[in-house]
Formats: sequence, C-alpha cells, structure tokens
Amino acid sequence: MHRLLLRNIAAVMMVVASTVINADNRVIHAGMLLAVPGEKPLTAHTIVVKDGKIVDLLQGYADAHQFGSNAKLIDLKDSFVLPGLMDAHVHLQIDFGPKMAVDKLKMSSQLAQMRSAHHAKNTLLAGFTTVRDTGPVEGAQEMYALRDAIAKGWLDGPRIIASEIIVVTGGHRGEIAMRHDFKDLLDSKGDNTCDGPYDCRRVARKAITYGADWVKISATGGVATERATGTGQQMDSDEIREIVNASHRMGRKVTAHAHQEDGIIAALEAGVDCIEHGSFAGPRSIKLFKKTGAYLVPTLLAGHLLGEMAAKNDTLPAPIREKARKVGSQMMKNFAKLHKAGVKLAYGTDTAMMHGINAREAVLMHRAGMSEMEIIKTATINTAELLDLSDSLGTIEVGKEADIIATDASPLKNIEELLDVDFVMKAGKVYKH
Ligand SMILES: [Zn+2]
Repeated sequence: MHRLLLRNIAAVMMVVASTVINADNRVIHAGMLLAVPGEKPLTAHTIVVKDGKIVDLLQGYADAHQFGSNAKLIDLKDSFVLPGLMDAHVHLQIDFGPKMAVDKLKMSSQLAQMRSAHHAKNTLLAGFTTVRDTGPVEGAQEMYALRDAIAKGWLDGPRIIASEIIVVTGGHRGEIAMRHDFKDLLDSKGDNTCDGPYDCRRVARKAITYGADWVKISATGGVATERATGTGQQMDSDEIREIVNASHRMGRKVTAHAHQEDGIIAALEAGVDCIEHGSFAGPRSIKLFKKTGAYLVPTLLAGHLLGEMAAKNDTLPAPIREKARKVGSQMMKNFAKLHKAGVKLAYGTDTAMMHGINAREAVLMHRAGMSEMEIIKTATINTAELLDLSDSLGTIEVGKEADIIATDASPLKNIEELLDVDFVMKAGKVYKH
C-alpha cells in the first residue's frame, strides 16, 4: 500500500512540474541515440518534442516542418544522445572548504540562496537534469523554494527532489563547529534535531508537513562533521523505526546516511528505502540489501575528494581529516564488492563543492570495475526508479519528459565523455547547445 501511495504522489508532483514550462516544438536529429540505457544504442533517429514531452521517435531524419510551422530543428547528427543524468545525492546549499565558517558568519541568508541557485544552474549545465538534494544547511524552506522556483521556470536548474535531514543531538549533518551561542543564533531556523522515538516521529511529520519530498536520517556519524565522534551508529534503532513508519504513512521514502555496518543494519532492519555511502557494508548488510530491495547510493566522489584533501594538506580540521583518511580509502574497495554482490545501485555524488563535477562519480565507478553501460543505466533508469520517476524520466521514449543530453563521442567507449556534455534539454527546453 505504501508503494502505491508513493507512486501516486510522485505522479502528481511530476504533472505539476511538467505543466509549468512551455517550450517550442523541437525536432532532434540524433546520430547516435541511447534511448534506453542497457539496450543497444540506435543510429540516425528523429526525436519529436512537444510541450516538454517526447511525442514521437522515428527511424531516419524526418523533416522538421512536418511537425508544425513552429517546429525547430536541433541537429545532433554528429553527437551521442542520451537521457538526462540524475544525481540522487547533492547539497546545493553547501560550498565545502576552509572558508565555510567565515561564509556562515559573513554571508547573508539571501546571498547564500543565490549561491544555491548558481550551484543548481552549474549542475544542470553539466547534464544533470534531476537531482535529489539530501540536506540543507541554510534552511529547509530555502531548499523547497529553490525546488519550486525551478519547477515554475523562474530559475534554471535541475528538477529537485528535496530531502530534509533528521539528526539526533550531536549527530551528523555536515555542519561546522563554532561557539555554541553563535551556532544557536545561526541555526535557529532548523528544527531537524530529535531525541527519543516520539520526538523523532514528530520531527519527521513536521518535515513532511513543511515540504519534504524525502526524509533522510543520519543513522551514523559522518566524515564532514567537525567532531571526533566516529562513523558508527548514533541514531538509535527505535528512533530510526519511528521516522521510517511516520514517513511511509505519509507517502514519503526514507534514506539513511550510514558508514559503519551497525548503522547500515539498523536502518535496513527499520525499513529504509535507501542507504547513502554504505562505506563499511559487510556480508550482513549485503544480505539485508538484497532482502529489502533497498538501494545504495555509493557517493565515491565525496570519499575520493575528502580523502585527497586529507592526504594533501591540512586545510581540513583534524577530526574531519582523521575520518576522511579512514572512510576515503575504504569506499572504492567496498563499492566494488557490493556491486559484484548485486546490490541495487543508484547514482549519487554527495557534491557539496565545485557543483557541476557530478560526472566524476562515473569515472570512479568505471575505475572500480563497472562497465560504461551499467554506469549510465545507474545514472538514469536506476535513479529514476529510486525516486519513483520511472513513468516520466530515465529513458528517451514516447510519453516521457524530454530530458535529453548529448556528448561529442560515445560515453560507452570512453566514460569521460560525460565530463563534457555539449547539449542539455530539460522538459523540452534547451539550456545548452
Ligand atoms: Zn551528503
């Protein structure tokens, strides 16, 4: 019953999103076309786009004028065309780095929101037409506002599925350490901390009431939290269970940030739909992943970047540096193991700086042994399924939203082609050509 409810809500949200943007009719001539990732790519096809949707897919290059006098031709005969990419783990409000603490004190909330909009645009231009934002630091309402402004066509950015993050006192949300009286002042908007099952149930309901599409929990400690409190389980199992039940009853899926295996197991046993990172998942977790059908979002890029920063210089505060060294080196190895074991994977980068580098995750997945086709399928079909958007996104098929990107050469031969996306269309509107 929950699944059905989730699907219906997702369908309603998509209808709202798709009716707002009005685009011209477009006719795309695609030289190479990966219409359905996982299947063989097609050659010389015509994609017809009307009112933001794909209305026809024809063999050969059809004359644009036969689809109306206002139909515009887009010539991608020399390109490789594929569905818009999806990233299930970004933080558009974060610009991680040594200046974070100063920014937090000096930057107005208004300017911080404009920076989020800038990050969103860079993400879209990189070919990522849909993202799940897995946790605001400037405020949940600001994240929902960005989501809604983009859906209305007021700002250029990817479609945003917005997840509030719920934490226990002292738990992980990637915040910076500062004097606690300053912190109380700066974080006064947040009501995402809870202790005890009933309190956590209340906070989950509140998050959904005020706009969360998803609910995320910090089941374990996190690398980017400036405290030497480890990466093991911190939210208790009764707290996790209450959040999962309350969220599912209101038609929202739940994902859990979890590094160490105790937290992964507690979250999967409580019925979460997804695990973020899963850095130290072992045989017991793998069994549970397969039993529950939960997705893993591996975020290799975050582990890689933090590991790199920890090794290279001392800009990271000591507690973060220590954790980054341990987790960063583990992620790639463990990912290869989980992939081999057949755990369901969605694409997610944990991008919290240099927004627009999201395709670098694909390069790391390839380095860990995944094929180009599997990677592209993960970043389209799988992630659409995780986000309950399979009916409208993930492939280039008649009836779906026209989220279409293109590269110069085939990313099936060289995955690094995804680092340089030359054409971006979202819901029929061209943002980059
Ligand atoms: Zn994250």
